[in-house]
Amino acid sequence: MIRKIKVKAEKMEFICDECKAGVMRLIKAAPVVKANKTQPKLYRHYCTNCKCEAQFSVIYPAILYRESPFLMADLLKQASKESILKL
Ligand SMILES: [Zn+2]
Repeated sequence: MIRKIKVKAEKMEFICDECKAGVMRLIKAAPVVKANKTQPKLYRHYCTNCKCEAQFSVIYPAILYRESPFLMADLLKQASKESILKL
């Protein structure tokens, strides 16, 4: 049996470093980039305002609970479908 307990969490957005207006979103068609085995996977994002691109190890928006980011399940599913590029 699953019991649901309400918790206090926050939605963590990444504000675009370029225009300071848009928020970063996962590019669903973009492959996950992994530079080497010791580095975390990087996910390509785009700005909803200026369309610039950036890479992050976290998929934004994320849910922050007790100072740890949790990826939203639907975004993680999408990201795991993408291939991993080794540079
Ligand atoms: Zn921007």
